[in-house]
Amino acid sequence: MRSWDLIVIGAGMAGAAAANKCASEGWRVAIVDELPYGGTCALRGCDPKKILRRGAEIVDSARLMAGKGIDADALAINWADLMEHKRGFTDPVPQNMEAGLARNGVETLHGTAVFESEHGIRIDDVTYESRHFLIATGARPRPLDFPGHEHLIDSTDFLELDDLPRRVLFVGGGFVSFEFAHIAARAGARPVVIDRGARPLKGFDPDLVDLLVARGTEVGIDMRPNTTITAIRSTGSAYRVTVETAGTPAEIETDLVVHGAGRVPQLSKLGLDAANVAHDTDGVTVAGHLQSTTNPAVYAAGDSADTAGMPLTPVAVFEGKVAASNMLRSATTAPDYAGVPSAVFTIPELVRVGMLEDEAREAGIDLEVRYSDTSGWYSNYRIGETTAAVKMLIDTSSDTLVGAHMLGPEYGELVNFVALAIKLGLTTRQLKSMTTTYPSVGSDLGSMF
Ligand SMILES: Cc1cc2nc3c(=O)[nH]c(=O)nc-3n(C[C@H](O)[C@H](O)[C@H](O)COP(=O)(O)OP(=O)(O)OC[C@H]3O[C@@H](n4cnc5c(N)ncnc54)[C@H](O)[C@@H]3O)c2cc1C
Repeated sequence: MRSWDLIVIGAGMAGAAAANKCASEGWRVAIVDELPYGGTCALRGCDPKKILRRGAEIVDSARLMAGKGIDADALAINWADLMEHKRGFTDPVPQNMEAGLARNGVETLHGTAVFESEHGIRIDDVTYESRHFLIATGARPRPLDFPGHEHLIDSTDFLELDDLPRRVLFVGGGFVSFEFAHIAARAGARPVVIDRGARPLKGFDPDLVDLLVARGTEVGIDMRPNTTITAIRSTGSAYRVTVETAGTPAEIETDLVVHGAGRVPQLSKLGLDAANVAHDTDGVTVAGHLQSTTNPAVYAAGDSADTAGMPLTPVAVFEGKVAASNMLRSATTAPDYAGVPSAVFTIPELVRVGMLEDEAREAGIDLEVRYSDTSGWYSNYRIGETTAAVKMLIDTSSDTLVGAHMLGPEYGELVNFVALAIKLGLTTRQLKSMTTTYPSVGSDLGSMF
């Protein structure tokens, strides 16, 4: 049996970042994954999704310019070709990633890792011992229990569909359902989104969410709030979904039912109890510096860890690096979560960084809210966009931004300036002093607060 300084479980963003860092400092490091290397983001999440979105962006952009110099009538997505374009990116990822890790001196293993003891895991029939472990096993779709839940496909399946049927029903009003519904609508489908809450996309500014829902309705997305699914039945060629809205039952016939009802940490196969690693439904229980609270040999990062960070790729990466650095130096540094932006890549995109308006009021901040309808601004007029708005939250006592909420084309890029300003504690005066290219969406920023 070989022994290691670190074994990383999960070759996604968090795991690869940590493995490379520790190996580069001379540690004997191994990493294991039960699936091809690359993790959710590169293979089954962010990257493939945004490639499919590109097709939808072009269709939408052309339609916005219909009658303004563009004849958009004949424009359509060829789903099979778009998928092929996606595979051109995703197919080489596992081999490239594994080769990169190996070049850095990391031993790459394959299989499901199961803890046998506080310092040992089993992969297939082989036991591996290590001074440290990093759990970076990511997340999986939240288990659902209504009758017929087995008919659902998940986000991974959606991103592999050979054909996109016309009728697609999304379960849950989170970012996955919204992003996919926006792609599907531009690809000719008539998506339905079922959400049990009064308003979808919790965690984003409610005023902007309302605008986004209205824009979605215009492109053919049927949003059903306050609605629960009670059962799904297969009819052989389609599915009959029984829903209930405010006590009133209804049936929806659809060709596909997609799980968009949230994700939970993927810990089920790890045998954590054998390693004395505390965990709950939010993930591996860790201290602020990402070390297990019950087994000092174990650290956790990314979607599988119960940290203060959101389940996002950049967070997984920096948590992986912080965990690595803490293991290497026996340090107790906590990750800095200030100014982490998050986006819903609908068309147009909805983004957030910092606090929500309610959170800022509850925190007793001396708050000024600057809301602008930016739909008529030059950048949006130019491309024909009809829905765009921003809400900036300013702490007037320090003249700093405490939150920014933006709905509009390219605001997923624009928010990065604000994220940096929040992270560095820049005043709005300092931010306004930035000179941008003109005319550009960036040049609108100075007028937003
Ligand atoms: C559809 C979708 C779209 C997304 N879009 C975005 C986006 O636009 N922007 C963004 O920032 N985030 C996005 N996310 C979230 C982002 O993908 C995750 O936050 C990120 O990938 C988490 O990285 P991780 O390293 O924690 O886990 P992962 O990348 O999920 O890696 C975990 C790995 O562990 C492996 N594993 C699990 N258990 C075991 C075991 N017992 N033994 C061996 N291997 C195991 C898995 O096979 C997997 O490869 C999206 C997620 C989804 C599902």
